[in-house]
Amino acid sequence: MKTVVCPYCGFGCKLLIGEERRRVKPYPGEPNRGKLCPKGLYALEFVFSKDRLKRPLKRVGSAMVPISWGVALEEIANRLLEIRELYGPDAVAFIASSKISNEENYLLQKIARLFGTNNIDNCARLCHEASVHALKLAVGTGAQTNPYEDLERFGVVLIWGYNPAETHPVVMDYLLRAKRKGAKIIVVDVRETRTMAFADHRLILKPGTDIVLANAMANVIIREELYDEEFVKTRTSGFSEVKMGVMKYTPEYAEKVTGVPAETIREVAREFALAGSGAIMWGMGLTQHVSGVENVLAVINLALLLGYIGEKGGLYPMRGQNNVQGAAYMGALSEFLPGYVPLTDERFRKRVASLWGVEDLPTERGLYLTELWEAIENGDVRALYIVGENPAVSEANFARVREALRKLDLLVVQDIFMTRTARYAHYVLPASAFCEKSGSYMNSERRIQWSHRVCQPLGDSKPDWEILTALGRALGLPGFDYRSVEEITAEYFKLFPELEDRSVEELKTGEGIFLPRKRLHTWEFATPDGRARLIAVERISPWEEPDGEFPFVLTTVRLISHYNTGEMTLRSPSLLRLMGEPRVLINRSDAERLGIHDGDWVEIETRRGKIRMRAKLGGVPEGLVAVPFHFKANRLTSEALNKAGTPEFKFSAAKLRKLRSG
Ligand code: SF4
Repeated sequence: MKTVVCPYCGFGCKLLIGEERRRVKPYPGEPNRGKLCPKGLYALEFVFSKDRLKRPLKRVGSAMVPISWGVALEEIANRLLEIRELYGPDAVAFIASSKISNEENYLLQKIARLFGTNNIDNCARLCHEASVHALKLAVGTGAQTNPYEDLERFGVVLIWGYNPAETHPVVMDYLLRAKRKGAKIIVVDVRETRTMAFADHRLILKPGTDIVLANAMANVIIREELYDEEFVKTRTSGFSEVKMGVMKYTPEYAEKVTGVPAETIREVAREFALAGSGAIMWGMGLTQHVSGVENVLAVINLALLLGYIGEKGGLYPMRGQNNVQGAAYMGALSEFLPGYVPLTDERFRKRVASLWGVEDLPTERGLYLTELWEAIENGDVRALYIVGENPAVSEANFARVREALRKLDLLVVQDIFMTRTARYAHYVLPASAFCEKSGSYMNSERRIQWSHRVCQPLGDSKPDWEILTALGRALGLPGFDYRSVEEITAEYFKLFPELEDRSVEELKTGEGIFLPRKRLHTWEFATPDGRARLIAVERISPWEEPDGEFPFVLTTVRLISHYNTGEMTLRSPSLLRLMGEPRVLINRSDAERLGIHDGDWVEIETRRGKIRMRAKLGGVPEGLVAVPFHFKANRLTSEALNKAGTPEFKFSAAKLRKLRSG
């Protein structure tokens, strides 16, 4: 049996798949230790779906007709070069994928930058880019600081706006072991989640008030002198500003704003501080707000006040897709070169350029994924090359995105299925699925793991790295003569000092390689002065508040058996059987007032549009409705962006109407 990285979440489980490709077994070693969730167990089902794309397609009128690879790539390259000639390189944009390998992301950003643009981005922009920005500001690196194994040795785990029981089920195994060893588990969320079932403290706060709660906890920690004075003095800066900033956030004030009782805030702050070591894990509940960066800074402050970093604690922004961390490390972001190095770092930029056989690379920040739609509307972007992403469903206010896709002079989609986005394309290129190709992936704990090929690509589909190598050649770019995926791995290794002495063979046979190392900031922070920064933050109100016309707050949530825009999980019969029909969660009192019963059809409307769904009563506080993210929720969501370019998926003003009985 061969080891293959799970194609779903960022936890990064390894699967064992035999040559007969009938069964998936869990890998007994790290990181999943013999466990898998249903998505991993049934991961082969979508691979053999009848819907898989098998030949390149070209739009002719309203039809998509098959063409050869040679003709497709030549025509695409010629159109891209024509558009560059007419409008300049920034009229072209590339969207990378958090589901393809490191090598493939590395190649796509190499193509973009050699083509002359930094318009290269990936869906990290939609989830944890706010964490990256906040972590870089506070501790100097933009990723999870500690391995999963550390969760079991800390005294407390604070889980904030994150529901691992649905999103990263195997994490629950680590958390349950931590709890058995005596760790206290505190969960903060806007609704009752499955993760709360085993928590010691469950704090349900009003949506959009995270900063107030975090600042009130900091207030208690500082006023009661529970913070680690030595750590704060020797390893951080900014204490006095934070101390002054949080003084007005008393627990009594926070109770009024957040709805969490003042006494609970005190109790939880004390328990968190007195545990002696602790982790903070967070998810989209913090980042997908206009205050996303500030929300994350507010919870990082709690860890820094207590010295919960390095050996005594860790910061865990839990990543969504299986290679979202790798895509970012490989430079598939519009503001960073590989390794999160800013474009303005001339020395590193020229080093990358020289490795690629050119003198320099573009220095201006490219467009964020979420800024592309306006740029297309304005005619600034004329061509879009998308690998493995489905913005027609995944972007906030997707009706606007679909209109923008229609306006493009050239849209190329490289994917395994005819996605909702691919329907707008001029060319569709069939890519191979995860087990039909080899390559490396980086999970949330920054562990690079090798995924082995277990079967041949279906039909005429090709691994993404082969398609991109051919595209690079067709565009006449230097350095696209790769004969194997391992040659690309060896090339990206050269950009990371920690990987220079490591071999691809080692990656293939071992338990993976942590980049840059297993535990960060043990002695020093990666900031210019080596100190972490405590940064005072004030509450930022949501972009739109509920009012008389739209009295509810709408939030989006994840389901255990579905993933992202559902293209893979909706083609898995076993997962469909497990999950049943998605439903909107409505509070019982709200439902009673509106005459809605369990199973009734309701219409949910925001200023962007409306959708219909059956109701499920309970699980949310009064005034809140929760819609599963995976299907059509983004017809409703708000595209207001935070400083990192992430939309406010977690907060829209909405109204509800009963349509008919279920
Ligand atoms: Fe795959 Fe994540 Fe489930 Fe593991 S927890 S099997 S990585 S989806």
